[in-house]
Amino acid sequence: MKTRAAVLYEMGKPRPYEETCPLSVEEVELEGPGPGEVLVEIMAAGLCHSDLSAIDGSRPRPTPMILGHEAAGIVREVGPGVHDLRPGDHVVFSFVPMCGRCVYCVTGRPVLCENGNRANAAGTLLSGARRFRNASGQPLHHHLGVSAFSQFTIAAQESLIRIDPEIPPERAALFGCAVITGVGAVVNTARVEPGMSVAVFGLGGVGLSVVMGARLAGAYPIIAVDILPAKLDLARRMGATHVLNAREVDPVEAVRDLTGGGVHYAFESVGSEQVLVQAYQATRRGGVTITIGLPHPERMFSVPAVSIVLEERTIKGSYMGSAVPRRDLPRFLALYQAGMLPVDLLFSRSIQLEEINAGFDALARGEVVRQVVRFA
Ligand SMILES: [Zn+2]
Ligand SMILES: [Zn+2]
Repeated sequence: MKTRAAVLYEMGKPRPYEETCPLSVEEVELEGPGPGEVLVEIMAAGLCHSDLSAIDGSRPRPTPMILGHEAAGIVREVGPGVHDLRPGDHVVFSFVPMCGRCVYCVTGRPVLCENGNRANAAGTLLSGARRFRNASGQPLHHHLGVSAFSQFTIAAQESLIRIDPEIPPERAALFGCAVITGVGAVVNTARVEPGMSVAVFGLGGVGLSVVMGARLAGAYPIIAVDILPAKLDLARRMGATHVLNAREVDPVEAVRDLTGGGVHYAFESVGSEQVLVQAYQATRRGGVTITIGLPHPERMFSVPAVSIVLEERTIKGSYMGSAVPRRDLPRFLALYQAGMLPVDLLFSRSIQLEEINAGFDALARGEVVRQVVRFA
């Protein structure tokens, strides 16, 4: 079948993207679903910083590739061997497919799935297949098994979680990356308890979801740090009890002052090794630093090694919120429906696929949190 998609041919083009058009919106050919695969019509696809990092080359990916990894859609056709999903089911994508058989999957850490992450690095589906071709017959890579910047896509059944069809798709989509990553970092990776102090460095979709998760967990205080006043205002509305503009104050000193020596948990969601050092310095003795952002692969960071021992500090990585997606997506969606996760505040606006390059300009400028491509 034919479908409309946004294809990244070349990384590192200069901004503004509205003029250089790193994403080419074109008609591409999509094969039908193979064994274990599912044809999904995308209803809503979020524009995330990780897509931007592929576009600007700071997170290199095999090209050409159809980006988009945060999405909701409707199953239209299933391949042989798919028994748990049927045409008409509403789904959210997990951007790590979970093979269910490797040592990570069977020990409860599917985000680290060996087979899923190998396929993601290669830009293929879990089976190794690629189902998209452009008009000249060139195969196109899949992005994290999702490739949501296409009206129709093929995904492994291991990438899909069925959801309540009542949830609007432009909200459901945000659970696939921003919400599962941010809320998951709080409740799965850190396991924050009531009354523990939290600082969040960087207030994109993920950082704001950390704020929501900290509120849900009963943390106090919840200190949100960014350099954009609009993001700080939003953080307050989502549950931050204190906000700090890192352009106006030294955030490390300010966090330490507010908490009498530092927070129990500091979250870094910028993807900057310098900010990671700040987050570490903002924790108290015995504190835990959770790193969520994705710095360039060549970046290193350093902290006084002895402080890890003498002050019993911990640094923990959190990928996709250390989630078990089949457990966490349904429970986070239920909390949203019950009014306990203000995910609506993450949503900035809907755009058309043709506006996607300008949409990434707006994201890069920090003017928006989550824009969502709507196809229907
Ligand atoms: Zn696995
Ligand atoms: Zn993302």
